[in-house]
Amino acid sequence: MTKTGGCLCGAVRYELANEPTSYGACHCGMCRKFSGGIELGLQVMPGGVTWTGEEAIQTYQSSEWAERGFCKICGSSLFWRLTAPGPMQGMLSLSAGTLDGLEGLEFNVEVYIDQKQGAHEFAGDRKRMTEADVLAMVGGSA
Ligand SMILES: [Zn+2]
Ligand SMILES: [Zn+2]
Repeated sequence: MTKTGGCLCGAVRYELANEPTSYGACHCGMCRKFSGGIELGLQVMPGGVTWTGEEAIQTYQSSEWAERGFCKICGSSLFWRLTAPGPMQGMLSLSAGTLDGLEGLEFNVEVYIDQKQGAHEFAGDRKRMTEADVLAMVGGSA
């Protein structure tokens, strides 16, 4: 397993405080645009990442409660970050593909499965949640 990662050009690097154990896929329309495909993300608690080259990160407020970050030099998609006030403010979904390696991590969830487009399917069995399932889990409403 690895706790380090960064963008394509290397201007942005990071180290995680804890060993990541799993990651998930999001099939929502915003993640599709942001990642250029299917966003694979791993959850990182507020304060769980130390950045190097943070000045190269550009953020974009993608909704009322979250922003997305990318490298302004090479364009690599880096994270989705919760900006809404609350105990989870600052939580990241870090783009899993930016990790230096994904060996040993479990791929254990797909969300917004009802918004999946295209012919691609991930092999194997894992938890799959619709948009309604996700909103119910976070206490929102559709
Ligand atoms: Zn870069
Ligand atoms: Zn998404």
